[in-house]
This record gives sequence, structure tokens and C-alpha cells, in this order.
Amino acid sequence: MSSPKVGFYGFTGCAGDQLMVLNCEDRLVDLFGATEILSFAMAKSDNHDGELDVAFVEGSISTEEQLEHLKDIRKRSKMLVAIGTCACWGGPQAMKLEEGGYEERYKKVYGNASIELSKAFEAQPVDAFVKVEMKIPGCPIDKTEFLSAVTKVVAGRHPYLYKFPVCTECKWKENPCILTEGKFCAGPLTKAGCGAVCPSHNIPCVGCWGPTDDLNVSAEYNLLREKGYDVDEIVKKIKKFGGAGVAKMVKELSAKKEAKK
Ligand code: SF4
Ligand code: SF4
Repeated sequence: MSSPKVGFYGFTGCAGDQLMVLNCEDRLVDLFGATEILSFAMAKSDNHDGELDVAFVEGSISTEEQLEHLKDIRKRSKMLVAIGTCACWGGPQAMKLEEGGYEERYKKVYGNASIELSKAFEAQPVDAFVKVEMKIPGCPIDKTEFLSAVTKVVAGRHPYLYKFPVCTECKWKENPCILTEGKFCAGPLTKAGCGAVCPSHNIPCVGCWGPTDDLNVSAEYNLLREKGYDVDEIVKKIKKFGGAGVAKMVKELSAKKEAKK
């Protein structure tokens, strides 16, 4: 049986997810041994295009050139996996998405300068443009979660990624809840996978894993409302990482709650 052909690609972001893949150290040898890596610019120099079984894509899409490249990768890949919060949800560069005012913000930073190589637009997550089969979020991704998912993906099986929020991992660790101390913690609305690393050090979660897809998210949202946080405050605090995805989720929950009144 031939090895699955894979590629790693990076767009707008800090490249932390690709670095985290490289940081898998001894397990990286297993990964490289079990697959044929056609392209991974950060790890090797002999990169080339070709048909792929799995493409791993990091970063949000923010220029016409990136968009063309992404579409080409999609065309050549049986499966496309978004890795990291920028690819999955847009990341910090998409925190103002859907608020308008991109042109003014662009001018404030770059003046009247235009980018010669490729026209820029407001950063958006990968699935705003192409089909994405799987999202592995994180800022950066968690090594253990990535390796566990990738092992199954390259074997043609579907991995299990946590659907519950950070609060569940936080309770596994028996941490006292930061919310009860009157501090805003985004754990109830944020997808688990990081091991609740921030609240385990008494630091509130800022939502860097993006929105949870827990079925009980409405109750978790109500918990924040009961603690006295209003809708705008919740949106403002957690869309730094979750971007438009998390803002949309909170607004939908709020609308449902209002409709029930
Ligand atoms: S709100 Fe924060 S501190 Fe409280 S349980 Fe959830 S993740 Fe832990
Ligand atoms: S901000 Fe939240 S999701 Fe991100 S690492 Fe900290 S606890 Fe985990």
C-alpha cells in the first residue's frame, strides 16, 4: 500500500501551528515515515505540487494570491484540514469581520500605500472560500490533539475531537472557577482541547480555541449572562480569537433567548 500523500501550507498567521508540528520531535519521524510529504516549506526545500490525500492548511486568507493558492490546494486534495484558530475561525486578524470599516482600518495602518504583489482583503477563515473536512483549532494547536487526529486521518479514519467546552477539562483538573471570583472567563463558550491550561494557572480563558460545538452551549451562555455579562461584552471579549464565528454563535444564542421571552 502506498503512503498517503500530504502537504502542509501556511497563509496569514504567525506560523505557530507549523512550528508546533515540527515540535512533535520524535513523533515527527513517525509522521514523516508513515506519509509522503509533498510540500512543507517550513520543514524541507524540495517541495512540489501534486495530488494529495490530505492538505493541512494554517492561517486565514487575506489576499487574492492566497485565495488562488488555496483553491489550487483544494482542487488537488481529497481532504482539507484547517489547523490552528486563524485557519478555523479567522484568528485575531478577523476579529472585526462583519463589522464593516475594513477600508478605514487598512488606511489607518498603511496610509494610501497599495500592496503591489496581490490585492489584500479582510482576513477570513479557510471555510469561507473552500470546503473544509475537519478543523483542528488552537493558538497554537496542541501537540497531543494534533498527533492523535493526524494518526487517524492518514489511516483513513475519522478522529474524535472534543465537542465540549474548556470548562469540562477545567473541572477534570479540579480547578476553582475563576468566574466565581468575578473575573470573565471564556471557558464556557470555548472548544476544549488545550487541557484548560490558562485557568489551571488561575488565568481566565480568552477563547483561543474558538467556539465550542457543545450541544449544551445555550446553558453555558446563560451561565455568563447570570454572572452579569451582557451580550456585547461577551462578544467583545471572546471574538479576539474566535472572530466572526464566535460572534455569530453568541448573537444567535442571544436572539433565541430574546425570542423566548
Ligand atoms: S469558567 Fe473558566 S475557570 Fe470556570 S470552570 Fe470554566 S474554564 Fe474553568
Ligand atoms: S485561552 Fe482558553 S482555549 Fe486558549 S489555551 Fe487558554 S484556556 Fe485554552
